[in-house]
Amino acid sequence: MTEQDKYFGYMGQILRVNLSTGEIKKEPLPRELMEDYIGGRGFGIKLLTDLLPDPNSVDPLGPENVLIFSTGPLNGTMSPSSGRYTVTTKSPLTGIFGDANSGGAFGAEIKFAGYDVIIVEGQAAELVYLNIRDDRVEILTASDLAGKGIMDTTDILVEKQGRDTKVACIGPAGENMVFCAAIANDKYHYLARCAVGAVMGSKKLKAIAINGTLDLKLAAPAEFLKKSGDCYRKITEDKTYDDFSYYGTAVITDIAAESGGLSTRNGQTGIFDHMDKYSSHAYREDFVTRSESCFSCIIHCSNYAVVEEKKYKCAGKGPEFETFVALGSRPDLPELGPVIYANYLCNDYGMDTISVGGIIGFLFECSEKGMIPEKYQWGDADAVIELVRKMAFREGIGDEMAKGMKYLAEKIGQGSMDFALQTKGMELPAYDPRT
Ligand code: SF4
Repeated sequence: MTEQDKYFGYMGQILRVNLSTGEIKKEPLPRELMEDYIGGRGFGIKLLTDLLPDPNSVDPLGPENVLIFSTGPLNGTMSPSSGRYTVTTKSPLTGIFGDANSGGAFGAEIKFAGYDVIIVEGQAAELVYLNIRDDRVEILTASDLAGKGIMDTTDILVEKQGRDTKVACIGPAGENMVFCAAIANDKYHYLARCAVGAVMGSKKLKAIAINGTLDLKLAAPAEFLKKSGDCYRKITEDKTYDDFSYYGTAVITDIAAESGGLSTRNGQTGIFDHMDKYSSHAYREDFVTRSESCFSCIIHCSNYAVVEEKKYKCAGKGPEFETFVALGSRPDLPELGPVIYANYLCNDYGMDTISVGGIIGFLFECSEKGMIPEKYQWGDADAVIELVRKMAFREGIGDEMAKGMKYLAEKIGQGSMDFALQTKGMELPAYDPRT
């Protein structure tokens, strides 16, 4: 009996790829890892600790750092909301352990290809992507993808490798090692926090394309099916289900606004004057064309949003609650169209909207207080959009923004650290700690 036979739910294998040497190894998933750390984030922190025994000596953007994609025993099953998986690394933004979590279908596909974990080590000499088809793993050139956004990169790789291929990739921000660069999977799902995309960029790894055909073994399939059915029933019977499945996380915007906790003007106030435009109802009616879901999730909390206005024309996965605050109420934009457009740009460039919006709000307040020569006005949508672009391509002030809010506050000085909404170097999410 193999380890995998005894531990159902796991594929029993770790894939290790060293981009410096080109070595590709498959190792058995250690029994104690399954028993003591279960999966996902547990796997990530244990493996990171083992692989970087002297973390202080590791440059997060150097070849010695590792990027760990880890799943858990429920990924790939029909257990509800089980599409999520984790990426762990030493973060260049904070200089310490960092992880990010995403939904979509990529996590399940890692399992279907026969792996529980993918560890990327080293640094390629030129831009490459990893192509995985079950047991066949190859490192291929990605020179034709250099500088391309998330949408084009995903489309090109799906076209090249087949329509069932799932893609995780970085955009220009990752290639430029911006400290809020994200990894996107399945186009619209983001491993956004801790600058995991900058680490992927430092490794010159543009993407992982994965296509799996294996079955996942369950210990007691009939009982598992029944339990999953019970969970689905409980979820749909919950009193919050209807709102969440129709409006998505925009519902939280309503709740935060009602409690005076919608962080506005870089958190100077929690009272936002434009809720008539930002309410979940207005968003759904004015911009959302359909709901979307992660693998095996009945909640389908994501919204596909379309903006018709010429200046902000875009279509894609719309902002979530976090982004309404980061790119909306923090810089105090009165209209939602530009927020959806700025979100679309962040998505395509591959950047964490929380950090981008947080840094922009901080700069606006610095400008208001006369601490920087640049002139920004609260509510200036064009300035927000221009700063998003400058940050992704590290142009002008965008190059400074790309190093994070803490760096900016230290550079600007004059007491600006007092209103820099960050902790340990990472920009704070939307939830106002005062409410
Ligand atoms: S659709 Fe929403 S609730 Fe369901 S797994 Fe994805 S993020 Fe979570």
